[in-house]
Amino acid sequence: MRFYMPTMIYEGENILFEQELLFKELGKKALIVTGKTSAKVCGALDDVIEILNKYTIEYSIFNSVKANPPIEQTVEGAKLGEGADFVIAIGGGSPMDTAKGIAILLKHGRDNYIEKLFGNKNYDAIPVIAIPTTTGTGSEVTPYSVFTDNKLKTKLSMPRRIFPKYAFIDLKYFKTMPLAVRNTTIMDAFSHSIESIINVRSNHYSELFAFKALNLFRQHKNDLMNDTISDEALRDFINASTYAGIAIAQTGTSLPHALGYPITYQFGLAHGMANATFMPEFLRVSPKDLVQKVLDATGFESEEEFAEWTKNFIALTEEKPPVKEEHLEDYARLISSQEEKLKSHPIKLSHEDIMTMYRNAVL
Ligand code: NAP
Ligand code: FE
Repeated sequence: MRFYMPTMIYEGENILFEQELLFKELGKKALIVTGKTSAKVCGALDDVIEILNKYTIEYSIFNSVKANPPIEQTVEGAKLGEGADFVIAIGGGSPMDTAKGIAILLKHGRDNYIEKLFGNKNYDAIPVIAIPTTTGTGSEVTPYSVFTDNKLKTKLSMPRRIFPKYAFIDLKYFKTMPLAVRNTTIMDAFSHSIESIINVRSNHYSELFAFKALNLFRQHKNDLMNDTISDEALRDFINASTYAGIAIAQTGTSLPHALGYPITYQFGLAHGMANATFMPEFLRVSPKDLVQKVLDATGFESEEEFAEWTKNFIALTEEKPPVKEEHLEDYARLISSQEEKLKSHPIKLSHEDIMTMYRNAVL
């Protein structure tokens, strides 16, 4: 058993300004990594710039991180940030994950970047500050980064382990999330919790966080379905997302993530909803004692009720992707090559089992 959480988490109103000296301590030059507009819209970018200006920390801004970022974006970002002492990520999982990859290349150079990010030898990184603005990935407290690989036509988890040095969480930065982003990222955190519990690497510490996240979900799931989220509920979902991140930082994720990646790649189904699509099938193939614990924690009477709720919730914001039988063999082969995800499941599953999960969930 082990539990490792090196990220210092700061949470509260105006937390960036309260902890502004931490920026000063990290160096003289920063690279800010964001998506197109949300960092500006939610106010976090202006707050960060105000602090950097106050302490005359030079900075550049890499503000073109795409959702489900392609690996190559790490090189673009590292080029722009040449000479930076630390990286500040503002946004959802996409900018936070990209910032971790960039931080490796800023320390070790951009040549042979695939080897540095995905090869066998380990590479560390310059410090990363993470300022999350979505209620989902928990990337502010995980060592993971997920990138799109256009050659393999799917998404891949980078094998390096880069925990952010600091995570700054302020409710106000999450208030501008559009409904679809909020709903899908809540489903991501929901799946992180469940995939961490039904996982051979689960332990009593990771479970503390995973079950706490599911309890918060249970409290607010009706408000979520009716779109009546109060500030208190939003705060609980923000916390649930970080708790679930702490849980998967110990265990990793499992099959729903692996099954969802090719669908996100091919049809653009949002990451959290892709996971949720496979969650009922994941329960079907999981040990029933663990499934019962998940049902109890989430407040569903049965697997059928769980599946019905999930299907209706996904339908609020997403259309069913037009997956066809002929796609499935390729997807299943990709999963069979992702040993880590298969090994994390308590029951050994065959290629045919994976095919059945795909058929039941998406055809
Ligand atoms: P995201 O891809 O980072 O962002 C999705 C959209 O939400 C973007 O259009 C973004 O706009 C917008 N947005 C973000 N925050 C907003 C705010 N406060 N107000 C308004 N709009 C906002 O979404 P995500 O779901 O958080 O991240 C998904 C990625 O994380 C996937 O690639 C997934 O595989 C990965 N992931 C990583 C981990 C991990 O442990 N590292 C775990 C699970 C998933 P802008 O483009 O303008 O910013
Ligand atoms: Fe995820």
